[in-house]
Amino acid sequence: MSALVAEARDVASFADECELLVVGLGAAGAAATLEAAAAGADVLAIERASAGGGTSALSGGVLYLGGGTPLQKECGFEDSPEAMFDYLMASCGPAPDAEKLRLYCQDSVDHYHWLVDQGVPFKPVFYPHYSGEPPTDDGLVYSGTEDAWPFDRIARPAPRGHVPQIPGQAGGLLMQKLLAAVAASGARVRNDTRCLALVRGASGRIEGALVRSAGRDEALRARRGVVLCTGGFVNDPAMLRRHAPLLARCKFRVGAEGDDGSGIRMGMAAGAAPLNLAMGSISLPVTPPKAMLKGLFVNGRGQRILNEDAYMGRLGEHALLHHEGRAFWIHDDATFVRPDVPRPVAAAGDTLEELERELGMPDGSLQATVALYNRHAARGEDPMFHKRAKWLVPLERPPFGALDCTVDGSLYAAFTLGGLHTSPDGEVLAADGAPVPGLYAAGRASACIAAPGYASGLSLGDATFFARRASRAGLERGRT
Ligand SMILES: Cc1cc2nc3c(=O)[nH]c(=O)nc-3n(C[C@H](O)[C@H](O)[C@H](O)COP(=O)(O)OP(=O)(O)OC[C@H]3O[C@@H](n4cnc5c(N)ncnc54)[C@H](O)[C@@H]3O)c2cc1C
Repeated sequence: MSALVAEARDVASFADECELLVVGLGAAGAAATLEAAAAGADVLAIERASAGGGTSALSGGVLYLGGGTPLQKECGFEDSPEAMFDYLMASCGPAPDAEKLRLYCQDSVDHYHWLVDQGVPFKPVFYPHYSGEPPTDDGLVYSGTEDAWPFDRIARPAPRGHVPQIPGQAGGLLMQKLLAAVAASGARVRNDTRCLALVRGASGRIEGALVRSAGRDEALRARRGVVLCTGGFVNDPAMLRRHAPLLARCKFRVGAEGDDGSGIRMGMAAGAAPLNLAMGSISLPVTPPKAMLKGLFVNGRGQRILNEDAYMGRLGEHALLHHEGRAFWIHDDATFVRPDVPRPVAAAGDTLEELERELGMPDGSLQATVALYNRHAARGEDPMFHKRAKWLVPLERPPFGALDCTVDGSLYAAFTLGGLHTSPDGEVLAADGAPVPGLYAAGRASACIAAPGYASGLSLGDATFFARRASRAGLERGRT
């Protein structure tokens, strides 16, 4: 017995019981609860806060969906499950889970309809100005690097960021709708109820949980399964330091208080293997305005890192993981614009040589980078990184400036993507690949389908999609 797993024989009595116990009521928990209620099951959702919502309610609300959703069609975009799959296979890190991605893409249109059926509204207007949640209530955005190199050559690009209809951050509206659907579903919800430990039966099966509610500890029995939907661990400094020290360097670590990894720790104590714990979404917001893309993204040695028109998560990930979090955005006088999210000026100079010196770069390095870039940009070409032609302008007019894109001096926003290793049916897997009987996980308590290679919307997308599968599998496999 550990503090995180109690043996059933040590539990004197169960105060309540249900068929499926859902732990945590953010987007994943709401989806798991709704699916079980729709199947007619006796489902109990417990939430440690006084209301559901979690980080999902604080988020941008973007859901990564595609394959030809009605919203995509109404906005005039063609998409297919194959194009979506090809993009995600190429962008979701070096070893994506092809089986999960295949299911996610094949059933994405169905999942869109499910969200609409829960009352989530989407306005059929495409917002073209930048990736991520729009300031308007428009419903569709590019939310990854689909339409830029190298992915525009791998799969037919389509915008797949589906945003609930409200200006700005849409996670609040998403959760308002999902929680209203939960309330109407017949599912039981207990707020102010914190899960402390899992309860394991004699056969090794997870049969319930120990919870604390109003200062009282009690045990809950789950006859068919327990689904952990407790979120990630960006707010647990010890776990972050141990498993994801690079994420710990990011200044902006937003997540609700519940993102302290409690479910991940309970799952691991019950025998689960973790996956990709070091990985996170690492956003380096440089645009809007898009005119920023005329600048050059270089590392601390004056070398160009990537095509600047890549998604902000790709920029942040490359700078932090591959360039020690030391990067700068270079402009000349003609291309200089102020980013909407303020970014400190790291250095300015009348010549590139002076700028390079100010930034502590090796003599000649930045000068060589800009000379090479200018030579090709003058012909509308970028043979190094294939930035789109409309952003290619030689940087020639002094003075020159560098905006700070270092992890220590500027804004990087991070949340965790690693978590419990799960099967496509949400079963929590042990190190040998076998399921931990009776235990399921979804959302950021489990490893995201993208790690690395995150595109906005993949977290809420996979959280809601795989939570529904976990719920169905729990009910099906837990039949006695
Ligand atoms: C500023 C910001 C913007 C973002 N924008 C987007 C976006 O646009 N699109 C996107 O896909 N992702 C976005 N994300 C990431 C996304 O919000 C999260 O990854 C996602 O919400 C995780 O969902 P979840 O259901 O797993 O966890 P949560 O929504 O955090 O829900 C977990 C719930 O479990 C509860 N809980 C935790 N421990 C326990 C316990 N022991 N007992 C009982 N209850 C417990 C918590 O209180 C919480 O309510 C954003 C994140 C941030 C911070």
